[in-house]
Amino acid sequence: MKSPDEQTMGPPMDEDAIARDLLNCIDDLQGLPKKPASHLYPDNTSIRSHIHRRDLIIRGTQLILEGIGVDITDRNFADTPRRYANFISELFWGPRPAITAFPETHDQMVIVRNHEAWTLCPHHLLPVRLVISIGYIPKGSVLGLSKLARLFDDINTQPLMQETAVDKLCTRLYHETGEMGAGVIMKGEHLCMRMRGIKSSHSEAITSKLMGVLRENPQARTEFLALAAVHSQP
Ligand SMILES: [Zn+2]
Repeated sequence: MKSPDEQTMGPPMDEDAIARDLLNCIDDLQGLPKKPASHLYPDNTSIRSHIHRRDLIIRGTQLILEGIGVDITDRNFADTPRRYANFISELFWGPRPAITAFPETHDQMVIVRNHEAWTLCPHHLLPVRLVISIGYIPKGSVLGLSKLARLFDDINTQPLMQETAVDKLCTRLYHETGEMGAGVIMKGEHLCMRMRGIKSSHSEAITSKLMGVLRENPQARTEFLALAAVHSQP
């Protein structure tokens, strides 16, 4: 026997399907190409959850603007909350191409140097510009060079401490490349140090992590550190 509610409501709604339609509408408005949801949002959260998080960012940005004291009906600010939510979506939840590996007998060090990436610092939510050099020793296959640089996108799903970023990136690289040896050097320009506080306009933070052969073999370590050094003005 159906309850009165079941009799009047009909079949249950597919909330994920509704959320997916909504997301496509948002993407249409933004002029973004349609992509499979799993491609857009790989971090184990549902589309509905992302829409909820996006809504929170929009509401939060409105509150910040009101707190600053601006007229949020002014044309310059009216769409700012949605733009900020788009920026966060692009920075942390953008497309994540699959990491491809190619069979290769080359067994010497491979290095990609001076890759630029951006994140936000967890303490002030201000931008951090990173210049990253990564290297590894192949074990029967090599990663596509562009994929090597994109590994950072996989770990950049929320504001990151630079120390955490270098640790996560090196660990990911080490496991993706057969666990022979991996190393990462990261230079960070933190706007929270430049715009506020000590206002140190030229300071840079350097972090590194080495694993496997690159950590244990002094010759390999020296070779990596010499070849992968990040430059001040790449
Ligand atoms: Zn900071």
